[in-house]
Amino acid sequence: MVDLQGQYQSIEKEVNERFSEVLSGASFINGPQVHEFQKSLEEYLGVKHVIPCANGTDALQIAMMGLGLQPGDEVITADFTFAATVEVIALLGLTPVLVDVLPDTFMIDPKAVEKAITSKTKAIVPVHLFGQCAPMEPLMALAEQHGLFVIEDNAQAIGATFTATDGTKKMAGSMGHVGATSFFPSKNLGCYGDGGALFTNDDALAHTLRGIVNHGMYERYHHDVVGVNSRLDSLQAAVLNTKLPKLDGYNAARRQAAKAYNMALAGQKDLELPTTVNGCEGICESCDCHVFHQYTLKVLNGKRDGLVAHLAALQIPCGVYYPIPLHRQKAYNRPDYKESDFKVTNELSEQVISLPMHTELDAEQIKFITQSILDYLKA
Ligand SMILES: *Cc1c(COP(=O)(O)O)cnc(C)c1O
Repeated sequence: MVDLQGQYQSIEKEVNERFSEVLSGASFINGPQVHEFQKSLEEYLGVKHVIPCANGTDALQIAMMGLGLQPGDEVITADFTFAATVEVIALLGLTPVLVDVLPDTFMIDPKAVEKAITSKTKAIVPVHLFGQCAPMEPLMALAEQHGLFVIEDNAQAIGATFTATDGTKKMAGSMGHVGATSFFPSKNLGCYGDGGALFTNDDALAHTLRGIVNHGMYERYHHDVVGVNSRLDSLQAAVLNTKLPKLDGYNAARRQAAKAYNMALAGQKDLELPTTVNGCEGICESCDCHVFHQYTLKVLNGKRDGLVAHLAALQIPCGVYYPIPLHRQKAYNRPDYKESDFKVTNELSEQVISLPMHTELDAEQIKFITQSILDYLKA
Protein backbone atom coordinates (compact mmCIF):
# COMPACT_ATOMS: atom_id res chain seq x y z
CA MET A 1 0.00 0.00 0.00
CA VAL A 2 2.91 2.35 0.70
CA ASP A 3 6.57 2.43 -0.40
CA LEU A 4 8.53 3.88 2.49
CA GLN A 5 11.80 2.32 1.35
CA GLY A 6 11.65 3.97 -2.05
CA GLN A 7 10.93 7.33 -0.46
CA TYR A 8 13.75 6.91 2.09
CA GLN A 9 16.26 6.32 -0.70
CA SER A 10 15.46 9.75 -2.11
CA ILE A 11 16.15 11.51 1.23
CA GLU A 12 18.66 9.12 2.75
CA LYS A 13 21.60 11.51 2.85
CA GLU A 14 19.77 14.32 4.64
CA VAL A 15 17.98 12.01 7.08
CA ASN A 16 21.24 10.30 8.00
CA GLU A 17 23.02 13.62 8.49
CA ARG A 18 20.23 14.80 10.76
CA PHE A 19 20.30 11.51 12.66
CA SER A 20 24.05 11.93 13.22
CA GLU A 21 23.42 15.43 14.53
CA VAL A 22 20.93 14.09 17.08
CA LEU A 23 23.21 11.20 18.07
CA SER A 24 26.26 13.36 18.61
CA GLY A 25 24.23 16.04 20.43
CA ALA A 26 22.64 13.33 22.65
CA SER A 27 19.59 15.53 23.21
CA PHE A 28 17.09 12.80 22.52
CA ILE A 29 14.02 14.35 24.11
CA ASN A 30 13.00 17.97 23.46
CA GLY A 31 16.22 18.58 21.55
CA PRO A 32 16.81 21.37 19.03
CA GLN A 33 15.36 19.24 16.19
CA VAL A 34 12.01 19.12 18.01
CA HIS A 35 11.99 22.88 18.50
CA GLU A 36 12.93 23.43 14.85
CA PHE A 37 10.09 21.16 13.72
CA GLN A 38 7.57 22.88 15.96
CA LYS A 39 8.46 26.29 14.49
CA SER A 40 8.45 25.01 10.88
CA LEU A 41 5.07 23.36 11.30
CA GLU A 42 3.58 26.49 12.88
CA GLU A 43 4.73 28.43 9.84
CA TYR A 44 3.55 25.80 7.35
CA LEU A 45 0.06 25.56 8.85
CA GLY A 46 -0.22 29.25 9.68
CA VAL A 47 -1.16 28.51 13.29
CA LYS A 48 0.16 30.23 16.40
CA HIS A 49 0.98 27.10 18.34
CA VAL A 50 2.11 23.57 17.53
CA ILE A 51 2.52 21.19 20.46
CA PRO A 52 4.42 18.04 19.44
CA CYS A 53 3.48 14.80 21.19
CA ALA A 54 4.02 11.05 20.97
CA ASN A 55 1.33 9.97 18.49
CA GLY A 56 -1.98 10.96 16.94
CA THR A 57 -4.11 9.07 19.42
CA ASP A 58 -2.45 10.94 22.29
CA ALA A 59 -2.96 14.21 20.43
CA LEU A 60 -6.73 13.61 20.36
CA GLN A 61 -6.79 12.58 24.02
CA ILE A 62 -4.70 15.57 25.11
CA ALA A 63 -6.95 17.91 23.13
CA MET A 64 -9.98 16.65 25.07
CA MET A 65 -8.11 16.91 28.39
CA GLY A 66 -6.94 20.42 27.55
CA LEU A 67 -10.46 21.57 26.78
CA GLY A 68 -11.51 20.39 30.24
CA LEU A 69 -14.07 17.84 29.06
CA GLN A 70 -15.52 15.92 32.03
CA PRO A 71 -16.97 12.42 32.47
CA GLY A 72 -20.53 12.36 31.20
CA ASP A 73 -19.91 15.05 28.58
CA GLU A 74 -21.01 13.91 25.14
CA VAL A 75 -18.65 14.10 22.18
CA ILE A 76 -20.03 13.63 18.68
CA THR A 77 -17.88 11.99 16.03
CA ALA A 78 -18.14 10.02 12.79
CA ASP A 79 -19.14 6.35 12.70
CA PHE A 80 -16.82 5.87 9.73
CA THR A 81 -13.26 6.49 10.96
CA PHE A 82 -10.30 4.76 12.55
CA ALA A 83 -11.05 3.56 16.09
CA ALA A 84 -8.52 5.94 17.69
CA THR A 85 -10.97 8.82 17.33
CA VAL A 86 -13.69 7.21 19.45
CA GLU A 87 -11.30 5.27 21.70
CA VAL A 88 -9.92 8.32 23.47
CA ILE A 89 -13.40 9.72 24.06
CA ALA A 90 -14.39 6.53 25.87
CA LEU A 91 -11.04 6.26 27.66
CA LEU A 92 -11.54 9.66 29.29
CA GLY A 93 -14.97 8.64 30.58
CA LEU A 94 -16.67 10.92 28.08
CA THR A 95 -19.66 9.62 26.14
CA PRO A 96 -19.00 8.98 22.45
CA VAL A 97 -21.95 9.72 20.20
CA LEU A 98 -21.42 8.23 16.75
CA VAL A 99 -23.24 9.67 13.76
CA ASP A 100 -23.56 8.77 10.10
CA VAL A 101 -21.47 10.19 7.26
CA LEU A 102 -22.15 11.64 3.81
CA PRO A 103 -22.41 9.09 0.99
CA ASP A 104 -20.21 10.91 -1.54
CA THR A 105 -17.29 12.22 0.54
CA PHE A 106 -17.55 9.85 3.56
CA MET A 107 -17.35 12.86 5.92
CA ILE A 108 -19.37 13.38 9.10
CA ASP A 109 -22.89 14.52 8.15
CA PRO A 110 -23.66 17.96 9.68
CA LYS A 111 -27.40 17.16 9.67
CA ALA A 112 -26.76 14.01 11.71
CA VAL A 113 -24.55 16.02 14.07
CA GLU A 114 -27.31 18.57 14.57
CA LYS A 115 -29.79 15.81 15.37
CA ALA A 116 -27.42 14.29 17.93
CA ILE A 117 -26.79 17.48 19.92
CA THR A 118 -28.21 17.38 23.47
CA SER A 119 -27.74 19.51 26.57
CA LYS A 120 -24.77 17.27 27.47
CA THR A 121 -22.92 17.72 24.18
CA LYS A 122 -19.60 19.50 24.64
CA ALA A 123 -17.58 18.81 21.50
CA ILE A 124 -17.62 17.66 17.89
CA VAL A 125 -14.70 15.73 16.41
CA PRO A 126 -14.78 15.95 12.61
CA VAL A 127 -12.35 13.57 10.91
CA HIS A 128 -10.71 14.81 7.72
CA LEU A 129 -10.94 11.37 6.22
CA PHE A 130 -8.68 10.02 3.46
CA GLY A 131 -7.05 13.39 2.76
CA GLN A 132 -9.68 16.08 2.50
CA CYS A 133 -11.65 18.24 4.90
CA ALA A 134 -14.95 17.54 6.59
CA PRO A 135 -17.66 20.20 5.92
CA MET A 136 -16.18 22.68 8.38
CA GLU A 137 -18.51 25.62 7.69
CA PRO A 138 -21.78 24.00 8.81
CA LEU A 139 -19.92 22.23 11.64
CA MET A 140 -18.37 25.45 12.97
CA ALA A 141 -21.74 27.18 12.68
CA LEU A 142 -23.40 24.44 14.74
CA ALA A 143 -20.58 24.60 17.29
CA GLU A 144 -20.97 28.35 17.65
CA GLN A 145 -24.73 28.13 17.94
CA HIS A 146 -24.56 25.48 20.69
CA GLY A 147 -21.34 26.56 22.42
CA LEU A 148 -19.38 23.42 21.49
CA PHE A 149 -15.69 22.80 20.96
CA VAL A 150 -14.45 21.49 17.62
CA ILE A 151 -11.46 19.15 17.65
CA GLU A 152 -10.22 18.35 14.13
CA ASP A 153 -8.84 14.85 13.66
CA ASN A 154 -6.32 15.74 10.98
CA ALA A 155 -4.31 12.51 11.02
CA GLN A 156 -5.10 11.86 7.36
CA ALA A 157 -5.14 15.30 5.79
CA ILE A 158 -2.05 17.27 6.73
CA GLY A 159 -1.28 19.76 3.98
CA ALA A 160 -4.84 19.75 2.64
CA THR A 161 -6.55 23.10 2.18
CA PHE A 162 -10.16 23.98 2.81
CA THR A 163 -11.79 26.54 0.56
CA ALA A 164 -14.48 28.52 2.35
CA THR A 165 -17.56 29.77 0.48
CA ASP A 166 -16.02 33.26 0.38
CA GLY A 167 -13.01 31.81 -1.44
CA THR A 168 -10.50 32.05 1.42
CA LYS A 169 -8.30 29.03 1.94
CA LYS A 170 -7.49 27.51 5.32
CA MET A 171 -5.20 24.64 6.24
CA ALA A 172 -6.79 21.42 7.47
CA GLY A 173 -6.45 21.27 11.23
CA SER A 174 -6.35 25.04 11.73
CA MET A 175 -10.07 25.82 11.72
CA GLY A 176 -11.43 24.29 14.92
CA HIS A 177 -10.49 25.13 18.51
CA VAL A 178 -7.74 22.55 18.30
CA GLY A 179 -6.36 20.19 15.66
CA ALA A 180 -4.66 16.85 16.17
CA THR A 181 -2.44 14.93 13.78
CA SER A 182 -0.34 11.79 13.51
CA PHE A 183 3.11 11.22 12.02
CA PHE A 184 2.72 7.43 11.86
CA PRO A 185 5.05 6.23 9.05
CA SER A 186 2.28 5.68 6.48
CA LYS A 187 0.60 9.07 6.98
CA ASN A 188 1.21 11.84 4.42
CA LEU A 189 3.86 13.34 6.73
CA GLY A 190 5.26 10.26 8.42
CA CYS A 191 8.27 9.76 10.65
CA TYR A 192 10.14 6.50 11.29
CA GLY A 193 8.30 5.51 14.44
CA ASP A 194 5.44 7.18 16.28
CA GLY A 195 4.79 10.90 16.44
CA GLY A 196 1.96 13.39 16.66
CA ALA A 197 1.08 17.02 17.27
CA LEU A 198 -1.65 19.41 18.34
CA PHE A 199 -2.28 22.81 16.78
CA THR A 200 -4.21 25.80 18.06
CA ASN A 201 -4.43 29.57 17.76
CA ASP A 202 -5.57 29.90 21.38
CA ASP A 203 -2.67 31.05 23.62
CA ALA A 204 -4.23 29.88 26.89
CA LEU A 205 -5.16 26.48 25.48
CA ALA A 206 -1.66 26.05 24.02
CA HIS A 207 -0.18 26.71 27.46
CA THR A 208 -2.50 24.14 29.05
CA LEU A 209 -1.67 21.54 26.37
CA ARG A 210 2.12 22.06 26.78
CA GLY A 211 1.76 21.22 30.46
CA ILE A 212 -0.45 18.18 29.89
CA VAL A 213 2.00 16.52 27.48
CA ASN A 214 4.66 16.84 30.20
CA HIS A 215 3.04 15.35 33.33
CA GLY A 216 0.97 18.43 34.01
CA MET A 217 4.11 20.44 34.84
CA TYR A 218 4.24 24.16 34.14
CA GLU A 219 7.12 24.64 36.53
CA ARG A 220 9.60 21.85 37.20
CA TYR A 221 8.18 19.40 39.79
CA HIS A 222 5.01 21.41 40.25
CA HIS A 223 2.12 19.32 38.94
CA ASP A 224 -0.85 21.64 38.52
CA VAL A 225 -3.06 19.33 36.48
CA VAL A 226 -3.14 15.61 35.75
CA GLY A 227 -0.99 15.14 32.67
CA VAL A 228 0.50 12.38 30.59
CA ASN A 229 3.93 11.58 29.20
CA SER A 230 3.65 12.23 25.49
CA ARG A 231 6.73 13.47 23.68
CA LEU A 232 8.00 13.59 20.13
CA ASP A 233 11.58 12.38 20.25
CA SER A 234 14.44 14.12 18.49
CA LEU A 235 15.14 11.31 16.01
CA GLN A 236 11.54 11.47 14.79
CA ALA A 237 11.75 15.26 14.60
CA ALA A 238 14.90 14.87 12.48
CA VAL A 239 12.92 12.83 9.93
CA LEU A 240 10.04 15.32 10.02
CA ASN A 241 12.41 18.26 9.50
CA THR A 242 13.68 16.55 6.37
CA LYS A 243 10.21 15.70 5.08
CA LEU A 244 8.11 18.79 5.94
CA PRO A 245 9.68 20.97 3.19
CA LYS A 246 8.84 18.17 0.74
CA LEU A 247 5.26 17.63 1.94
CA ASP A 248 3.60 19.70 -0.79
CA GLY A 249 5.60 17.81 -3.40
CA TYR A 250 4.68 14.49 -1.82
CA ASN A 251 1.00 15.47 -1.80
CA ALA A 252 1.24 16.56 -5.46
CA ALA A 253 2.67 13.12 -6.32
CA ARG A 254 -0.30 11.51 -4.58
CA ARG A 255 -2.72 13.74 -6.52
CA GLN A 256 -0.98 12.79 -9.78
CA ALA A 257 -1.43 9.10 -8.95
CA ALA A 258 -5.09 9.72 -8.05
CA LYS A 259 -5.61 11.45 -11.36
CA ALA A 260 -4.10 8.51 -13.23
CA TYR A 261 -6.37 6.11 -11.31
CA ASN A 262 -9.40 8.30 -12.12
CA MET A 263 -8.59 8.40 -15.81
CA ALA A 264 -8.04 4.66 -16.10
CA LEU A 265 -11.14 3.72 -14.09
CA ALA A 266 -13.62 6.30 -15.42
CA GLY A 267 -16.93 5.24 -16.91
CA GLN A 268 -17.31 1.87 -15.16
CA LYS A 269 -20.87 1.15 -14.05
CA ASP A 270 -19.64 -0.86 -11.06
CA LEU A 271 -17.33 1.87 -9.71
CA GLU A 272 -17.88 5.20 -8.04
CA LEU A 273 -14.63 7.17 -8.07
CA PRO A 274 -13.59 9.46 -5.17
CA THR A 275 -15.51 12.72 -4.86
CA THR A 276 -13.51 15.85 -4.09
CA VAL A 277 -15.13 18.25 -1.60
CA ASN A 278 -14.81 22.02 -1.28
CA GLY A 279 -16.36 22.81 -4.61
CA CYS A 280 -13.37 21.59 -6.59
CA GLU A 281 -14.26 19.59 -9.67
CA GLY A 282 -12.44 16.36 -10.28
CA ILE A 283 -8.77 16.35 -9.31
CA CYS A 284 -7.90 19.96 -8.79
CA GLU A 285 -4.58 21.14 -10.23
CA SER A 286 -4.57 24.52 -8.58
CA CYS A 287 -5.13 23.72 -4.91
CA ASP A 288 -4.46 21.09 -2.29
CA CYS A 289 -8.12 20.37 -1.54
CA HIS A 290 -7.43 16.63 -1.52
CA VAL A 291 -4.08 15.15 -0.49
CA PHE A 292 -5.17 11.52 -1.02
CA HIS A 293 -4.01 9.85 2.14
CA GLN A 294 -6.08 7.06 0.62
CA TYR A 295 -7.47 6.60 -2.86
CA THR A 296 -10.79 5.07 -1.86
CA LEU A 297 -13.51 4.20 -4.31
CA LYS A 298 -16.85 2.47 -4.07
CA VAL A 299 -17.40 -0.88 -5.77
CA LEU A 300 -21.13 -1.26 -6.47
CA ASN A 301 -23.45 -4.19 -7.17
CA GLY A 302 -21.95 -6.47 -4.53
CA LYS A 303 -18.66 -6.82 -6.36
CA ARG A 304 -16.28 -5.43 -3.69
CA ASP A 305 -15.26 -8.65 -1.96
CA GLY A 306 -14.73 -10.41 -5.28
CA LEU A 307 -12.45 -7.59 -6.41
CA VAL A 308 -10.48 -7.75 -3.16
CA ALA A 309 -9.94 -11.49 -3.69
CA HIS A 310 -8.97 -10.95 -7.34
CA LEU A 311 -6.36 -8.33 -6.44
CA ALA A 312 -5.04 -10.48 -3.58
CA ALA A 313 -4.53 -13.39 -6.00
CA LEU A 314 -2.45 -11.07 -8.20
CA GLN A 315 -0.53 -9.87 -5.11
CA ILE A 316 -1.76 -6.33 -5.61
CA PRO A 317 -2.14 -4.74 -2.18
CA CYS A 318 -5.47 -3.15 -1.33
CA GLY A 319 -7.25 -2.20 1.86
CA VAL A 320 -10.78 -1.95 3.17
CA TYR A 321 -11.01 1.14 5.39
CA TYR A 322 -13.18 0.49 7.32
CA PRO A 323 -14.79 -2.96 7.16
CA ILE A 324 -16.88 -2.67 10.36
CA PRO A 325 -18.63 0.59 11.32
CA LEU A 326 -17.66 1.76 14.80
CA HIS A 327 -21.23 1.58 16.11
CA ARG A 328 -21.13 -2.18 15.46
CA GLN A 329 -17.87 -2.72 17.33
CA LYS A 330 -18.30 -4.48 20.68
CA ALA A 331 -16.41 -1.74 22.51
CA TYR A 332 -18.52 1.11 21.12
CA ASN A 333 -21.96 -0.35 20.49
CA ARG A 334 -24.84 1.16 22.47
CA PRO A 335 -28.29 -0.30 22.97
CA ASP A 336 -29.89 2.98 21.89
CA TYR A 337 -28.18 3.05 18.48
CA LYS A 338 -30.58 2.32 15.61
CA GLU A 339 -29.22 0.69 12.44
CA SER A 340 -31.44 3.01 10.42
CA ASP A 341 -29.35 5.95 11.71
CA PHE A 342 -26.19 4.48 10.13
CA LYS A 343 -27.40 3.67 6.63
CA VAL A 344 -24.44 5.26 4.87
CA THR A 345 -21.68 3.80 7.02
CA ASN A 346 -23.24 0.36 6.82
CA GLU A 347 -23.34 0.59 3.05
CA LEU A 348 -19.83 2.03 2.74
CA SER A 349 -18.35 -0.75 4.84
CA GLU A 350 -19.53 -3.15 2.11
CA GLN A 351 -18.49 -1.00 -0.86
CA VAL A 352 -15.19 0.75 -0.21
CA ILE A 353 -11.78 -0.33 -1.37
CA SER A 354 -8.51 1.60 -1.11
CA LEU A 355 -5.82 1.14 -3.75
CA PRO A 356 -2.06 1.50 -3.24
CA MET A 357 -1.31 5.20 -2.68
CA HIS A 358 2.08 6.73 -1.97
CA THR A 359 4.68 9.11 -3.36
CA GLU A 360 6.59 6.53 -5.40
CA LEU A 361 3.79 5.07 -7.57
CA ASP A 362 4.72 5.05 -11.26
CA ALA A 363 2.64 4.88 -14.43
CA GLU A 364 3.47 1.23 -15.03
CA GLN A 365 2.31 0.16 -11.56
CA ILE A 366 -0.90 2.15 -11.92
CA LYS A 367 -1.52 0.61 -15.33
CA PHE A 368 -1.09 -2.90 -13.92
CA ILE A 369 -3.38 -2.20 -10.96
CA THR A 370 -6.13 -0.53 -12.99
CA GLN A 371 -5.97 -3.09 -15.82
CA SER A 372 -6.38 -5.88 -13.25
CA ILE A 373 -9.46 -4.11 -11.87
CA LEU A 374 -10.96 -3.66 -15.34
CA ASP A 375 -10.28 -7.33 -16.17
CA TYR A 376 -12.19 -8.38 -13.06
CA LEU A 377 -15.16 -6.13 -13.80
CA LYS A 378 -15.40 -7.45 -17.37
CA ALA A 379 -15.31 -11.10 -16.35
C1 LIG B 1 -3.76 7.28 12.24
C2 LIG B 1 -4.97 7.88 12.79
C3 LIG B 1 -5.07 8.23 14.15
C4 LIG B 1 -4.08 7.83 15.20
O1 LIG B 1 -2.76 8.17 14.98
P1 LIG B 1 -1.60 7.34 15.71
O2 LIG B 1 -0.39 8.20 15.51
O3 LIG B 1 -1.48 6.02 15.02
O4 LIG B 1 -1.95 7.20 17.14
C5 LIG B 1 -6.21 8.90 14.58
N1 LIG B 1 -7.20 9.20 13.72
C6 LIG B 1 -7.17 8.87 12.42
C7 LIG B 1 -8.30 9.24 11.52
C8 LIG B 1 -6.05 8.18 11.91
O5 LIG B 1 -6.02 7.84 10.61
